Amino acid sequence: MVEAEPNLLPPELMDGYEKPPHECGIFGMYAPGMPVAAMTVTGLNQLQHRGQSGGGVFVYTDEGRPVGTKDVGLVANALRAAIPVTPGSDSPYDLYGSPISVGHVRYSTTGRNEIRGVQPFVKPGSSLVVASNGNLPVLESLKEKYDIFNPDPASDTEDAFLLLQDSFERHGDFLEAMHEMLPQFEGGCNLLASDGENLFASRDVWGYRPVCLGVLPDGGGYVVSSETVGLHSVGAEFLRDLKPGEIVKIGPNGTESTFMNRQEDRKTCRYEFNYTSHPASDIDGSNVYMSRVNTGKRLAKSALVAADVVIAAPESGRGVAEGYAQESGIPLSQGLIVNNGAKRTFIERGLAREAMIKYKYIPIVAVLKGQRVILCDDSLIKGKTMKAVVTLLKDAGASEVHVRLGSPRFEHPCFMGMETDKEELVASYMTDEEIARHIGATSVAFVSVVDNDKAIVEAALDPGNPRNLKVGQFCTGCADGRYPSQVPGPISLGMPVLARSLVGSVC
Ligand code: SF4
Repeated sequence: MVEAEPNLLPPELMDGYEKPPHECGIFGMYAPGMPVAAMTVTGLNQLQHRGQSGGGVFVYTDEGRPVGTKDVGLVANALRAAIPVTPGSDSPYDLYGSPISVGHVRYSTTGRNEIRGVQPFVKPGSSLVVASNGNLPVLESLKEKYDIFNPDPASDTEDAFLLLQDSFERHGDFLEAMHEMLPQFEGGCNLLASDGENLFASRDVWGYRPVCLGVLPDGGGYVVSSETVGLHSVGAEFLRDLKPGEIVKIGPNGTESTFMNRQEDRKTCRYEFNYTSHPASDIDGSNVYMSRVNTGKRLAKSALVAADVVIAAPESGRGVAEGYAQESGIPLSQGLIVNNGAKRTFIERGLAREAMIKYKYIPIVAVLKGQRVILCDDSLIKGKTMKAVVTLLKDAGASEVHVRLGSPRFEHPCFMGMETDKEELVASYMTDEEIARHIGATSVAFVSVVDNDKAIVEAALDPGNPRNLKVGQFCTGCADGRYPSQVPGPISLGMPVLARSLVGSVC
């Protein structure tokens, strides 16, 4: 029996440090004769870092009817109905012998209608199953254009599902429906869907979020996953990343690739590399962990300071710290240890952040006392957790704390799948020096946009491959407010404003 993991910590502390909420993860299969439901649960488990609020998996009966389960919470909890009771056996849903599965893990920002927002979406009487990763901030005009009445959507994906369902009903062909609707969507939207006969996967025209295709050994079928770590978890071999604007249809006749009737400059989300994706994943030719190490090396060149020890914010700053130490020659050590027991301990949302931090992180005084410390992390968004950690380090005896961040200044809200409030973005109204004073650090420095681009590009596994990402092919929306796709307006810049980036949920 699989033990259900309780959903205990607030989302921003689930992964060990302050992070803006992740987006979502998609995982699906077309693999005749394989236990696709059980394998999809395995894949979603591996993508758990992309969303901890809910999950779902659907397969098909012999009659082509979608069946499955979805619920709030972590995969082991939300999908327990789909998990084999005996390890190694098939999921109850595999008794249907379906070759197709569609799975999803979700992040959401509010408890309102949470179960309504959990994906995949299905509609009674329809064979369609749809899940997505990303965010579509401006769907109202499309809903008007196609006469879709959904005044209280659980999420943008529910609206997208209704638009696709409507198009599917008009055309009787889901590939046609995708070609009609997807080029009209503004924002991040990687889709995973099935009409009961085929599995469909697509990547939005900007390529904001990753999605890749893998193949099982001995012609066992195909796997679609947000990240390569998902492929590897079920023994699939990486075939390729989907290209921006690509739609892949996988069915009885194999795979078919077509492209949307819209072209945009590629603008991949840099935060996929900087912290959202698993360090072991490769995206568009670059390894995530090595991109973080390279970013740390570049920070050591642009923001070098005399110090005695480099430490990482656990676990998020590990790659940046390693790179900073390698380049600077300052020894890397472990100054903070995560109290793993915290994940299994009830901590109410109302508990003071400082108390949570003290409970969750244990400083190693022997490493810190009297030392000038470089504290590396992947990003700084609100600064609240960082402030508490800096206090912790100083209380442990650190004489100086220099904070080095492996992402550019996050000054503007994201509308493409990374939920952030403008009013909470400390970099939107403070200089580096002001942030340092605010969090009690001796100094603060962020990697520049260009250095961040180069660090990712230099992490290429196959340098020179024309499919690799290039400098300038990354979104800069949160750094400079220049968004590649349409966003809700007007957006106020400068001092904190009250405009929320999203209406409660992403995916
Ligand atoms: S605005 Fe920032 S977080 Fe959002 S997609 Fe662009 S790079 Fe990623």
